[in-house]
Amino acid sequence: MAMHLGNCRDCGALFANARRDVTLCRTCAERYDRMFDRVREQMRRHPKLTIQDLADRTGIPSHQILEWVRDGRIHAT
Ligand SMILES: [Zn+2]
Repeated sequence: MAMHLGNCRDCGALFANARRDVTLCRTCAERYDRMFDRVREQMRRHPKLTIQDLADRTGIPSHQILEWVRDGRIHAT
């Protein structure tokens, strides 16, 4: 399988990945996964929170949460 070489969109590190649509290095991907878990946990406990509420509570930028919503990874109202 061909490997694609790219720069991580978060930290800028050069990394190789098998899929062109992977834009985060492994370290950042794991960090994002933990952030994602925090957001999902907050949504589970407080289903009525808005994106901005979630951003305030978790310290994760609202644009990042919006991206997860757009990707269909989380469902916000
Ligand atoms: Zn990175």
